[in-house]
Amino acid sequence: MECTYCGSDLAHYDPVFVEKTADGERVPAGAFCNYACLDAHIDDAELTYGAACQWSPDE
Ligand SMILES: [Zn+2]
Repeated sequence: MECTYCGSDLAHYDPVFVEKTADGERVPAGAFCNYACLDAHIDDAELTYGAACQWSPDE
Protein backbone atom coordinates (compact mmCIF):
# COMPACT_ATOMS: atom_id res chain seq x y z
CA MET A 1 0.00 0.00 0.00
CA GLU A 2 1.24 3.47 -0.83
CA CYS A 3 0.74 6.92 0.64
CA THR A 4 -2.13 8.66 -1.14
CA TYR A 5 -0.14 11.87 -1.27
CA CYS A 6 3.53 11.10 -1.85
CA GLY A 7 3.41 7.45 -2.92
CA SER A 8 5.82 6.17 -0.28
CA ASP A 9 5.55 2.52 0.75
CA LEU A 10 3.50 2.58 3.94
CA ALA A 11 5.26 -0.54 5.21
CA HIS A 12 8.02 1.81 6.35
CA TYR A 13 5.67 4.04 8.34
CA ASP A 14 2.97 4.00 10.98
CA PRO A 15 0.32 5.13 8.50
CA VAL A 16 -2.64 7.42 9.06
CA PHE A 17 -5.87 6.12 7.55
CA VAL A 18 -8.73 8.41 6.62
CA GLU A 19 -12.35 7.49 6.14
CA LYS A 20 -15.25 9.48 4.83
CA THR A 21 -18.98 8.95 5.02
CA ALA A 22 -20.81 8.21 1.77
CA ASP A 23 -24.50 7.27 1.80
CA GLY A 24 -24.28 6.49 5.49
CA GLU A 25 -21.36 4.13 5.13
CA ARG A 26 -17.76 4.70 6.10
CA VAL A 27 -15.44 4.21 3.16
CA PRO A 28 -11.65 4.54 2.89
CA ALA A 29 -10.61 8.00 1.71
CA GLY A 30 -6.87 7.59 1.76
CA ALA A 31 -3.80 6.41 3.63
CA PHE A 32 -0.84 8.61 4.50
CA CYS A 33 2.64 7.93 5.85
CA ASN A 34 2.24 10.72 8.40
CA TYR A 35 0.12 13.71 9.32
CA ALA A 36 2.28 16.02 7.22
CA CYS A 37 1.25 14.15 4.07
CA LEU A 38 -2.36 14.14 5.21
CA ASP A 39 -2.22 17.89 5.78
CA ALA A 40 -0.54 18.50 2.42
CA HIS A 41 -3.11 16.32 0.67
CA ILE A 42 -5.94 18.29 2.28
CA ASP A 43 -4.40 21.53 1.04
CA ASP A 44 -3.81 20.12 -2.43
CA ALA A 45 -7.29 18.70 -2.78
CA GLU A 46 -8.79 21.88 -1.30
CA LEU A 47 -10.86 19.71 1.01
CA THR A 48 -11.23 22.54 3.49
CA TYR A 49 -12.64 24.96 0.93
CA GLY A 50 -16.24 25.71 1.62
CA ALA A 51 -16.06 24.24 5.11
CA ALA A 52 -16.73 27.65 6.64
CA CYS A 53 -19.91 29.48 5.78
CA GLN A 54 -18.33 32.87 5.32
CA TRP A 55 -14.59 32.82 5.30
CA SER A 56 -12.45 35.37 3.53
CA PRO A 57 -8.67 35.61 3.44
CA ASP A 58 -9.03 39.38 3.56
CA GLU A 59 -10.58 39.46 7.01
ZN1 LIG B 1 3.40 10.36 2.33
